[in-house]
Amino acid sequence: MKKVIGISSTMVESVISNTLRVDENYINAVLHTGASPVCLPIPRDVSMASRFVERLDGLILSGGSDIAPFLYNENPIPEAMEYQFERDAMEIALLQAAYEKKLPTLGICRGMQLANVHFGGTLHQDLSVQLPDALEHHTKDWKDSAYHFVEVEGDSILGKCFSEKKVIVNSHHHQGIRDLAPSFRVTARSADGLPEAVEYLGDWNFHGVQFHPERLYFKDEFCKIFKILLEVC
Ligand code: MN
Repeated sequence: MKKVIGISSTMVESVISNTLRVDENYINAVLHTGASPVCLPIPRDVSMASRFVERLDGLILSGGSDIAPFLYNENPIPEAMEYQFERDAMEIALLQAAYEKKLPTLGICRGMQLANVHFGGTLHQDLSVQLPDALEHHTKDWKDSAYHFVEVEGDSILGKCFSEKKVIVNSHHHQGIRDLAPSFRVTARSADGLPEAVEYLGDWNFHGVQFHPERLYFKDEFCKIFKILLEVC
């Protein structure tokens, strides 16, 4: 039986009707592993999350808008961008249900940040203001700019995806992990010290990456992130 991987979606509001959107790259990345992707809705009743998780073999929390800073007890700074309370609430419920079921989970960009917040960490609301010496991590050009090196920890599970310790990744984020959640360890960092990947310390296969492997899935080592971290192979 093919494994079924759930992918969280984002809400696009419209006067006619709200629409759910999932970046096609996540779908293609999951298809490329041989698993079956399923796009997950954002119901108002977040208790649906455990129902969804019961039917899944793996979960991807996808990228997207900012996490509401209230979730880590802060008021928004002027540079904070749009956030969606409904999406935050649903993804926290998915994450908690996945944690309880020990469902393999991969948090990508926003997904990693959300997990860090849920398990007690905090975020830089905007790197250019709060970490001004940081590398360029944010670009509106999704094609090829703002790539940078990361140093991958060799003894991590992420380390099994790459033959080299120094890896070039893409970078499309203006927020980042400030205080790491106590239950996480950092498995990759950029040269400015910012966490670019984390894993859960304990008996749950949770991994977070700050970069976007779904946009590079056709490269073997980035496809391995989906295969190994989601236990698809
Ligand atoms: Mn980056």
